[in-house]
Amino acid sequence: AKMSDTARLLEAASFAAEKHRDQRRKDARATPYINHPIEVARILAEANVGDVEVLMAAILHDTIEDTETTAEELTKTFGERVCGLVLEVTDDKGLDKLERKRLQVVNAATKSDCAKLIKIADKIANLRDLKASPPDWCEQRVGAYVQFAEMVAGGCRGTNVLLDAWAMKEASSSFDVL
Ligand code: NDP
Ligand code: ZN
Repeated sequence: AKMSDTARLLEAASFAAEKHRDQRRKDARATPYINHPIEVARILAEANVGDVEVLMAAILHDTIEDTETTAEELTKTFGERVCGLVLEVTDDKGLDKLERKRLQVVNAATKSDCAKLIKIADKIANLRDLKASPPDWCEQRVGAYVQFAEMVAGGCRGTNVLLDAWAMKEASSSFDVL
């Protein structure tokens, strides 16, 4: 039987929760990691993104990068398109962290519109987290992250006006934390 959109979305949430089960955010309370992908999908829904496969890919967006999940597994469970979107927002783990960040900035504008939506929502979520539940970072590291996230979000602009506005708001008000 064909699964409903709601059932597929919950299937993705359940899959991501299991994959991220032992991971925590970098904040002082060690928030369960799954709160973040759920928040990214929620931000997209609030911005009126109704494409269920984009919302599914948002919930799954850190599974390949941060867990043992493979592309084959995502394709088999959620289909080619969802897997392709997750791959589009996944860093090449063979590169060092600085190079991965540089490539996120230079490649952002070349991504598909759906991948840009996920990327910009991811940066909005992380900038909000940085303010509301910050890791124990020095000022200069916070500043470097904000600048990086702003540049990636800049490359993702132009697909959804609400997301553009929220990213701009986070980038400008992030001077508050400095
Ligand atoms: P960062 O240290 O840049 O950490 C940011 C990432 O952590 C976010 O993109 C997010 O990724 C995740 N995250 C988890 N919890 C939070 C939270 N509460 N708030 C915001 N983001 C959170 O990334 P890496 O650890 O991958 O890489 C280390 C990098 O940091 C290197 O590039 C290095 O150059 C740099 N660095 C800079 C220092 C400095 O002082 N400037 C010092 C040390 C390292 P996700 O969406 O994937 O969860
Ligand atoms: Zn993320």
